[in-house]
Amino acid sequence: MKRDERLYAFIVAHTSRSRSRIRRISIHKRWLKASGVLAALVLCTALYGLYGLTQQAAHMRIEEENERLRLENERQRQQLKKLENRVDAIEDASRRLSEISGVSHEEEGTDALGAGGPWLNLDAAAVSALEARAAHLESDLRAHEAALRERARVPSIWPIEGGEVTDSYGVRGNPFGGGSSEFHLGQDIAAPRGTPVVAAADGVVVKADWQSGYGQIVILDHGNGLTTHYAHLSKIEVTEGQELTRGSQLGQVGSTGRSTGPHLHYEVRIGDVAVSPLHYLPAR
Ligand SMILES: [Zn+2]
Repeated sequence: MKRDERLYAFIVAHTSRSRSRIRRISIHKRWLKASGVLAALVLCTALYGLYGLTQQAAHMRIEEENERLRLENERQRQQLKKLENRVDAIEDASRRLSEISGVSHEEEGTDALGAGGPWLNLDAAAVSALEARAAHLESDLRAHEAALRERARVPSIWPIEGGEVTDSYGVRGNPFGGGSSEFHLGQDIAAPRGTPVVAAADGVVVKADWQSGYGQIVILDHGNGLTTHYAHLSKIEVTEGQELTRGSQLGQVGSTGRSTGPHLHYEVRIGDVAVSPLHYLPAR
């Protein structure tokens, strides 16, 4: 006898007239299996769809992130380009400065960033090339600064404006007469009493006092053993220890000490040895 492949369900239904009726529903097992397979299929499809949706969302997030990074990259390129233009300009200025300071400007080899050309790639190499140029500029500027500071300490301007150049450095007759001769250690410039006397270079006041023979004197130290001496002043306007820049007033022409009339006695010394100030002065 063939086995019954059906499942039976019995439903008891009540009618309004209190008569009950039993109903029998039978489902073939084959259908039940088919329904199970169908349900599993539907579930799988739904799960796959859900998975696809989450993947799509993730993809969109990555796209968004990529776009953001692209914009950021573009912004950085622009900034680097601007920076490169600024470095170009500073390099030009440094080149001009080297003509003034006398410091030789070392030309760089190949310009890794291709100045003036299109901006091709932004990478670590471009950034480090720019860094190298900036470092090069820094050392150039330090050299210019040192050279200019050194030059500012050389007594290269006349300590008074105008006046008449009288006795120079070297052997001369005794200005007080008597026919004897003496070695004159500086440059004399005759000028009216009260004529401003200025520092011939940047320096520090190491003496602002009376000195035998020199009268009221100011001595400036310019470093490297170099000093300048301003003698016979009628008035001293600086104090010892004061730092002066080239051209700043330190006193007034007078005739104090061993002097025959108002004039400035100007000496330049290297160590203790007086040298001719004319070596340092522009021709008049
Ligand atoms: Zn003199």
